[in-house]
Amino acid sequence: MRLILLGPPGAGKGTQAQRLVEKYSIPQLSTGDMLRAAVTAGTEVGKRAKAVMDAGELVSDDIVNAIVSDRIDEPDCVRGFILDGYPRTLVQADAVEVMLNSKGLKLDTVIELVVDDKALVGRIIKRAEEAAAAGQPVRKDDNAEVFEERLREYYKKTAPLTGYYYAKGMLRTVDGMASIEAVTEEIDTVLASL
Ligand code: AMP
Repeated sequence: MRLILLGPPGAGKGTQAQRLVEKYSIPQLSTGDMLRAAVTAGTEVGKRAKAVMDAGELVSDDIVNAIVSDRIDEPDCVRGFILDGYPRTLVQADAVEVMLNSKGLKLDTVIELVVDDKALVGRIIKRAEEAAAAGQPVRKDDNAEVFEERLREYYKKTAPLTGYYYAKGMLRTVDGMASIEAVTEEIDTVLASL
């Protein structure tokens, strides 16, 4: 199964992706995680991405498309994957279609987690507090100021993907304001209906 999880930062894409990983034994391809790993490793991509990520802006389409294309070629993706945080622009959405076609693969569905903006900043702050309490590193972009920019980027560049996938008949929406358990159940229902 190959699916895209859409939704603003803090919508719960990562949490739900983790659950899908366990249930379907397919990997979560989070471009945010991949970019953070590149930053930590100090690679060329990481060096180019760091300041952009710290500011809450989007890394260039070329960089992100290339890392996703390489990642999809890894053996653990043969049974499918969950794209989390990608595509995030219309250019990336077109690129993923071309990329999958060229690899002889097809996307099964796009699931959008629909959430109320006002809840998002609270969720992000909570995520930062929980990471700190667990002794884990706190993301530099998980604070109220950078979050504002991340949300602006989302509305400017990512939100149009909803219409893009709706027009293709691929969009399924799920109420992301429900409990984690209820959201998982709704996603399961969508996937069972495919
Ligand atoms: P995330 O972990 O998905 O919230 O992503 C963290 C940051 O990584 C974003 O704010 C962007 O700077 C960058 N990023 C992640 N995915 C993408 C993408 N598909 N396109 C551009 N930038 C991205």
